[in-house]
Amino acid sequence: MTVGEALAAGTRRVGRREAALLLQHAARRSALELVTRLDAAVPPRSVGRFLRGLDRRAAGEPLQYVLGEWEFWSLPLRVDRRALVPRPETELLVEEALRLAPGLPKRPVLVDMGTGSGCLAVVLARELPAARILAVDLSAPALDLARANARRHGTGRRITFLRGDLFAALPAGVAADLILSNPPYVPSGELAAARELAAEPALALDGGPDGLALLRRLAREAVDRLVPGGYLLLEVGDGQAERVCRLLAQGGWEEVGTVGDLAGTPRVVRGRRPGSGAGWPG
Ligand code: GLN
Repeated sequence: MTVGEALAAGTRRVGRREAALLLQHAARRSALELVTRLDAAVPPRSVGRFLRGLDRRAAGEPLQYVLGEWEFWSLPLRVDRRALVPRPETELLVEEALRLAPGLPKRPVLVDMGTGSGCLAVVLARELPAARILAVDLSAPALDLARANARRHGTGRRITFLRGDLFAALPAGVAADLILSNPPYVPSGELAAARELAAEPALALDGGPDGLALLRRLAREAVDRLVPGGYLLLEVGDGQAERVCRLLAQGGWEEVGTVGDLAGTPRVVRGRRPGSGAGWPG
C-alpha cells in the first residue's frame, strides 16, 4: 500500500485531516514526509498500525486516545482512557494562574484538584519553576498517567501526586496560595446522552444532577486549605458561571469574577479567600 492509497482509504472513513494524522502516527513520519512521497510504499507494520487506528477512530474513540498523545499549552502529553483528554478551554486556567503568579509568594504552593492527565500540574510546574505543586485525583490510574507526564517533562520532583477525595488527600497543615481545578461538571443526564464523551472516564465528567456537585464542594471546602488572600480558580461548563459566582459570593469569597474564552463565554470562575489587604493585580 502506498502513502497515497493509505490516505485515500483513511479519508473515506475519517476525513482527510484525521487520516493524515493517523498515518503520520502509524508510520512515524511528518506530514511533509508523507505528502512529498505519495508513491512510496508504507511498511506493512505501519499499515497494520494505521488500519487498527482507523478502526478505533471510526468506532468513535477520540482521536487523541488513538494517537496516544495530545498537546496542551504546546506541551505534548500522553493521553489515554485513564483520564480526560486535555481541552483548549482548560488553558484559560493556566492563563489566569500565570496572570496571578506575580502577586503570589516567591515559592508558591499550588494545588491542582482533580489532575487527570496532569496537564495543569505539569504545565504550571514548567511555567513557574519555583512553585511546589500538589496534584490530587481520586483515580489511581489517572495518577499513574499524570506521573508519567510529569516525568516526561522533567517536573516529577516538583509535583507531589496524592490520591483521595478532594481535600482529604492533602496532608494536614498544607495551606495553598492558589488552588485550581477542572472538576467534573457535566450534568449526569447530559453525560448519559453525549456519545462524544462516552469513551472518557465518567468520574472526570459527571457533575451530578445539575453538574454542580463538585463545584459546590470545592466552593465550600477550598477556603480552609488556602492562605488568607489565596485564590481559587475553577473551570465551569458553558452556562454555569453565574451560578458558581453566586455560590462563591454566598460562601463569603471575595473578588469573585469570571474569565472568558475567545468567544467571550465565561469558563473560569475566580474567588479569593478574605484576609489579605493586598489589591487585585492587573
Ligand atoms: N469540557 C468538557 C466537556 O464539556 C467537560 C470537562 C469537565 O467536566 N471538567 O466536554
